[in-house]
Amino acid sequence: MKIILLGAPGAGKGTQATRLAEKYQIPHVSTGDIFRANIKNATPIGVVAKSYIDKGQLVPDEVTVEIVKQRLAESDCEKGFLLDGFPRNTFQAEELDKFASVEKVVNINVDTTKLVKRITGRRVCQCGESYHVDFLNGKTDCAKCGKTLYQRADDNEVTVKERLSVYEKQTAPLIDYYEKAGKLVTINGDQNIDKVFEDIISSL
Ligand code: ADP
Ligand code: AMP
Repeated sequence: MKIILLGAPGAGKGTQATRLAEKYQIPHVSTGDIFRANIKNATPIGVVAKSYIDKGQLVPDEVTVEIVKQRLAESDCEKGFLLDGFPRNTFQAEELDKFASVEKVVNINVDTTKLVKRITGRRVCQCGESYHVDFLNGKTDCAKCGKTLYQRADDNEVTVKERLSVYEKQTAPLIDYYEKAGKLVTINGDQNIDKVFEDIISSL
């Protein structure tokens, strides 16, 4: 099971990826999570990544592609993986084609007008779980592991607008790229989390 989760920022890729990774017992490979871990550990990659992430722009391809290439070469990815947040432009997709054979690309579709609210209301846990303030009922801890939730530095209104514009210009063309490759399935992401999950499973 070698799967890409495609979709705009806030479409629900991470939310679905944690569930799918558990169901199919395959690793969830999120380039955003990898960059955030590098930022937290103040690695050289983290320093470079932070300067782009803070502005809502893409981290340069040479850094990003190499990270994914190395991660997918690890033994736990042999049977399958879920790519979340990669590829994000045509160059990355072409590079990926050289070192992995992806079987399905699940495009989670949500109307752009709903995405700003989803992202600015997002609260995350170090364990990878995402929540939305509207459904937390004032809770500040993760229901899964109990740790304190926090808001991502780039989940503010200014950066979100830039990220959505980057998505439209650079990432959305991948819908066509994977449609032409016969790998694309599109899922309505504007349904409750369980229904989106069900639809993804039926499509695989
Ligand atoms: P992405 O990884 O695509 O950026 P997330 O999975 O982190 O998106 O979800 C973004 C926000 O939207 C989070 O606050 C999450 O709780 C919320 N969310 C995810 N899926 C749904 C859904 N189906 N309906 C409503 N809110 C959702
Ligand atoms: P995400 O966690 O997917 O929302 O990504 C957060 C940020 O990390 C993005 O806004 C980019 O700055 C950076 N990033 C994540 N994945 C990629 C990628 N494939 N290419 C370039 N930058 C990326």
